[in-house]
Amino acid sequence: MSGLVFVVSGPGGVGKSTVVGELMKRDAELWLSRSWTTRERRPGEADDAYNFVTRAEFEANIDAGGFLEWTNFLGNYYGTPIPAAPAGKDIVLEIEVDGASQIKKQHPNAVLIFVLPPSREEQRERLMVRGDDERKVDQRLRKAEEEEPVGIALADHVIVNQTIDKTIADMLGIIAGARRAASL
Ligand code: 5GP
Repeated sequence: MSGLVFVVSGPGGVGKSTVVGELMKRDAELWLSRSWTTRERRPGEADDAYNFVTRAEFEANIDAGGFLEWTNFLGNYYGTPIPAAPAGKDIVLEIEVDGASQIKKQHPNAVLIFVLPPSREEQRERLMVRGDDERKVDQRLRKAEEEEPVGIALADHVIVNQTIDKTIADMLGIIAGARRAASL
């Protein structure tokens, strides 16, 4: 991997995907990795949100050494395939904290941005809108309590996602700063 690596992490329902989607539109030098998962596709979720695979397919790719990192998150596998980013592009990974910690160990220069929700209430609302049932929403909120202290300790930058515009502006600033530092 020749470019920079930006890891965007944060609990479910924090708005990571929306923010990352906007970043990709605004910065043509960024390349977004598409993860593999064994989770079922949610109703209305884009076909290419993930590479949706079976457990057997996922485990075969683990055995083949095909993942940069992978984890088991609330009963499903999620993993980043070894990136095939075009030369000169900076890589963006949108992953949970266990994967972020694996990336930091392998690539200490990776820039980890941890995104926090403005409040649990807003986070709950965002999770509900996605169509998950109440049990799954509660599970993800409990998981968030676990993930946040770990993510904050690991992160190079912590952003509270108050408004999408401000969060994107902050992220673009972080990306520009990392590029400047890398070019010195
Ligand atoms: P969701 O089921 O809501 O799409 O994702 C659950 C969590 O897994 C989110 O925090 C998401 O960022 C994370 N995730 C998505 N892809 C990967 C991946 O490739 N590796 C890891 N470690 N986490 C991932």
